[in-house]
Amino acid sequence: MSTTPHPDPTDLTPRHVSALLQDTTPWLSCEECFERMDTYAEAVVRDPAHTDEAMAAHLRGCAACDEEAQSLVQLLAAQ
Ligand SMILES: [Zn+2]
Repeated sequence: MSTTPHPDPTDLTPRHVSALLQDTTPWLSCEECFERMDTYAEAVVRDPAHTDEAMAAHLRGCAACDEEAQSLVQLLAAQ
């Protein structure tokens, strides 16, 4: 018996998302993410409302890249 009455697909944990990304990866690999990170960080610094669907999806599921992106944004923002 399940005690969770809400099968909400947005309820996925980063671990689930990461597993999904590894399986069918509709978005980016870590390598591709890394290649785009400079551009992404610059865009975010210029416009905090900037979104990149592919990057955002990867960063949600990949703590390592997320950390890297955040520190890069902070670095650029501090200049
Ligand atoms: Zn990654």
